Amino acid sequence: MPKGFYNVPKAVNEPVKSYAPNSAEKAAVQATYREMWNAKIEVPLYIGSEEIKTGNTRNMTPPHDHQHVLGHYHLAEKSHVEKAIANALESRKQWASLPWEQRAGIFLKAAELIAGPYRSKINAATMIAQSKTIFQAEIDAACELIDFLRFNVEFMTQIYADQPKSTSDMWNRVEYRPLEGFVYAVTPFNFTAIAANLPASAALMGNVVIWKPSDSQVFSAKVIIDVFREAGVPDGVINVVFGDAQMISETVYASPDFAGIHFTGSTHVFKDIFKHIGNNIEIYKTYPRIVGETGGKDFIVAHPSANVRQVVTGIIRGAFEFQGQKCSAASRAYIPQSLWPSVKSELEKDLKSIKMGSPEDFSNFVTAVIHEGSFDKLAKYIDQAKADADAEVIIGGNYDKSVGYFIEPTVILTTNPKYATMETELFGPVITIYVYEDAKWAETLKLVDETSPYALTGAIFSQDRYAINEATKALENCAGNFYINDKPTGAVVGMQPFGGARASGTNDKAGSAQNLLRWVSPRTIKETFVTPVDYRYPFLGE
Ligand code: NAD
Repeated sequence: MPKGFYNVPKAVNEPVKSYAPNSAEKAAVQATYREMWNAKIEVPLYIGSEEIKTGNTRNMTPPHDHQHVLGHYHLAEKSHVEKAIANALESRKQWASLPWEQRAGIFLKAAELIAGPYRSKINAATMIAQSKTIFQAEIDAACELIDFLRFNVEFMTQIYADQPKSTSDMWNRVEYRPLEGFVYAVTPFNFTAIAANLPASAALMGNVVIWKPSDSQVFSAKVIIDVFREAGVPDGVINVVFGDAQMISETVYASPDFAGIHFTGSTHVFKDIFKHIGNNIEIYKTYPRIVGETGGKDFIVAHPSANVRQVVTGIIRGAFEFQGQKCSAASRAYIPQSLWPSVKSELEKDLKSIKMGSPEDFSNFVTAVIHEGSFDKLAKYIDQAKADADAEVIIGGNYDKSVGYFIEPTVILTTNPKYATMETELFGPVITIYVYEDAKWAETLKLVDETSPYALTGAIFSQDRYAINEATKALENCAGNFYINDKPTGAVVGMQPFGGARASGTNDKAGSAQNLLRWVSPRTIKETFVTPVDYRYPFLGE
């Protein structure tokens, strides 16, 4: 039993390393990259204490060199998923009753392992598996993940400390129990930090988890698994299965003990998940918690008072870093006619200086998109824009998949504010720009609000405080993360809790206590010290 009200270490954001030429961190990550590139690895399923090799395998290949095989991973069958559920439920007996400080110790240790001995490894794995530049890997796989782990421990203690009032004759307490059953974590390819956080946040709150990583992220997921094991996550607490998402998910939803899903990925998949859970509602012991962060069609709006260099930098970093494959990436921009000639020429100038290629060459700003499906989809939209009368590819527009899935940073200019690429999430290095008449500022804000079903991130650039105020109000429902004079990407744990509404998700704000609250089920306990022994109230008397 705990014998103290323990304080956890104050969470601080992990400093981002520079990887400047001749730095020690650059040399370390380059050496690790080479080592991991050449080592053929095999990734089993992790179920209870077992590492299961099913023999049914798939290759892992880097997007920037798709013929290079990094190793392979094993695919689950239905029986493995059922076994994972049984193991999770068995492990729950011990895990759910383990004092919170023991769980905290495990995840704080995981944070320190990533900050130190695993930093090069998790960054190099993310550069290789997801084609991130070193900077994009560092802010995701190292810093954001460390922040999630540290801050979540602090948020957990804040939740536990939130207690009701009591009086001298009664003591009221709230216990934040883990959910009764198991949690299913389904993670996307694009952030190593999210892949780790979705299972870890639920487990931190005392839940047992079935984790299904994305097929395109298994190589870096393996490093997360190694860290969790070294940090001391007990067997059976986070069970990992790979393979057919539909089959795995349907097997999970068929369990009466399914207590919640922690999902990040595309909107159509999440809608499908919601439907499946709804259809099975009669079988569950408890209403499953459904938490999903999904797609975006994130905007940049420049007011005529905006600073052109700021707008251009916001567009380039916001739209093209990590090849536009952030859920928060800017993919539609609204520029006033008066600024357009200078915004256009600055964009052309800057984009000319951008290099594209393997992330191993640190001078590349842009690398490959995640897989052939994504490449083909992007190529199709670019070709369509070249053919359509109301759109024009003004910068970039070339693509080549002979070695890796490379798409040039592409700018489409449209005269139709409802053009397909102003509305549809493409998830690649493509931004569409609509030039509006300066006098139509208010109408343009309405357009921004009404153009896409999403509401994830958005940015306004302006030097005019009245315009900033007007936009903040007019756009209140179309971005869960709203930026003033900054790009719409790069949310930091503990600083900008992240998530959006409408078709972008349940807005449960990853990197905040609000998210952790979804993984507990509070029990209120009232204890009366001197208990009444007569049912008669005074008012009953004559
Ligand atoms: P995805 O939807 O293709 O895959 C996400 C996960 O869902 C993967 O593990 C995948 O295997 C699984 N999946 C696929 N079909 C499934 C099914 N029928 N049932 C259950 N699971 C299924 O997404 P992705 O390509 O990995 O990631 C990109 C998407 O994620 C984009 O839409 C992006 O906007 C979104 N995203 C959102 C956020 C956010 O915080 N809002 C963050 C990152 C990514």
